[in-house]
Amino acid sequence: MIRFENVTKRYADGTTAVHDLSFEVAEGELVTLVGPSGCGKTTTMKMVNRLIEPTSGRIFVQGQDIAGTDPVELRRRIGYVIQQVGLFPHKTVLENTATVPYLLGWPKGKRRERAAELLDLVGLDPSVYGDRYPDQLSGGQRQRVGVARALAADPPVLLMDEPFGAVDPVVREHLQNEFLRLQAQMHKTVLFVTHDIEEAVRLGDRIAVFGQGTIEQLSPPAEVLGAP
Ligand code: ADP
Ligand code: ADP
Repeated sequence: MIRFENVTKRYADGTTAVHDLSFEVAEGELVTLVGPSGCGKTTTMKMVNRLIEPTSGRIFVQGQDIAGTDPVELRRRIGYVIQQVGLFPHKTVLENTATVPYLLGWPKGKRRERAAELLDLVGLDPSVYGDRYPDQLSGGQRQRVGVARALAADPPVLLMDEPFGAVDPVVREHLQNEFLRLQAQMHKTVLFVTHDIEEAVRLGDRIAVFGQGTIEQLSPPAEVLGAP
């Protein structure tokens, strides 16, 4: 579903962020990318939706070499959630959730219906929160809206870059549990970046342990934890 073939990314200043990286994520699989800050996780992630272009190597999404795709079209197939979800401050929660359907030209009624459904799914009652603005939400609630927004047009692929990194540990655990429950229904193909090994083990079907610019180990949780 997602495949990296010998991918290297060297930035303009000469920093090699990713070196000769090859790996695959199966359809419906959740792979967590874990490792210390600066080892290339975000760079890897951003190459999947072409926010960053590789220096060499090839990346496939749904069997297609993404180098030949229209980035806008590609991103419609890929939901993206980051640590500080950039919600539009002057749009309501419902409008924020419906951003991609809006860009896709869905009629207003259908957009609102879909947004309400997604808000329900991430545990925000749309009749309570739908007409609020982002600054009227807690950090955890904003992250939920970010997840709902990423899912609104039902993309097969999800990229999540420390989506629960900025909330307190109790809220984080709650969001992790809800995300696991959602993923059990949705079976999205997910790349999930975290620097928290516990989170990586908890969520991942497999865990990609990053070292400097490459994956050192890609295996199921039990093996990463050193079980026989
Ligand atoms: P991680 O997500 O694991 O923290 P990143 O992918 O953000 O790592 O960064 C990997 C390396 O690339 C780091 O050394 C970082 O400083 C460097 N890097 C990231 N973005 C840029 C950039 N735009 N220009 C130059 N170097 C960068
Ligand atoms: P119209 O369909 O007549 O443009 P809307 O109420 O749908 O009326 O939108 C009014 C404006 O608000 C639009 O021009 C657009 O810029 C913005 N907007 C509405 N819904 C969204 C959304 N879900 N995401 C982003 N922008 C939106």
